[in-house]
Amino acid sequence: MDDTSFIRLGVFAGVFVTMAALEAWLPARRAALRKRTRWQGNLAMVVLGALAARVVLPATLAGVAMWAGDQSVGLFNQISVHPFVAVALSMLLLDVAIYWQHRLFHAVPLLWRLHKVHHADSHTDTTTGLRFHPLEIVLSLFVKAAVIILLGAPVMAVLIFEIALNAFSIFNHANIRLPQRWDDRLALVLITQRLHRIHHSQHSRETNRNFGFSVTWWDRLFGSYTPRAAQSDEMLDIGLKEYPPSSSSAGILALLSMPFKPGKTKSD
Ligand SMILES: [Zn+2]
Repeated sequence: MDDTSFIRLGVFAGVFVTMAALEAWLPARRAALRKRTRWQGNLAMVVLGALAARVVLPATLAGVAMWAGDQSVGLFNQISVHPFVAVALSMLLLDVAIYWQHRLFHAVPLLWRLHKVHHADSHTDTTTGLRFHPLEIVLSLFVKAAVIILLGAPVMAVLIFEIALNAFSIFNHANIRLPQRWDDRLALVLITQRLHRIHHSQHSRETNRNFGFSVTWWDRLFGSYTPRAAQSDEMLDIGLKEYPPSSSSAGILALLSMPFKPGKTKSD
C-alpha cells in the first residue's frame, strides 16, 4: 500500500467512525429497518464499488493526472499559473462537474436507474453515503477522468478532491441533526445533514434540490438550493415510495439487480 492509499484509508476510517459514533449517540431519526440489515447491503456495495473502480482503472485517478502532466495535456498543463491556483481551481471545477453529474443522474432515465439504488435506502446514515451501484461508481470514474484530463488537474488536486468527496459524502448522510441556528450558519458554505436529507425526500420537488456534495454554492448558483422542506426534518418522508422499507430490498443481490428491474425511470 503506498502513502496516498494509507492517507485515503485513514481519512475514510476516521470520518466514518466519528460520524457513525455521533449518529449512534444522538440519532436524528429512527430507521424502519434494523441497522444490521441495511449496513450489510450498504457496506457490501462500497466494497464492490471500490473493486470495480480498481478493475476498470488500475492506474487510479491520480495516475490519470500524472499521465496528463507527463503528456502536457489539459488546461493547467498548457498555461502557466501558480501551482496553488491550479490546485484550487481544479478542485472547484471538479466539484462543479460532480454537481452536474449528480443532476444528470437524476434527469436521464437510464442513469436514474443506477442512482435510485442510492435513493432507495429507506433511511439515511453514514452507510447511505457509501451506497452507490458499482456501475454508477465506474461511470463517475470516467467522468472524473475526463474532467481531470481536460483540466490538466495537478495530482495534488485530485488526491485532495477524492479524499474530500468521500469524506463529505459520509458527513452529509450521517443521521445527526445540528441545532437549527448552527445548521443555517454552516449551510452558508457546506451541505449539512439536514439539507442533504431534503435531497433524499420522497417528494420530487425536494428530491430534485440540494444536489451538492460539499459546498452549497453550486445549488445556489444554479437555482437548485432549498433551505427548508415542506415537512420538518423529523417528519420528512425519506427514500423512494416504490421501495418501502423491507429487508428483501436491502440485501446486496437486490441492490445490484435493482437498475435492471422494472420501475419508475425518473426521480419524481
Ligand atoms: Zn441524488
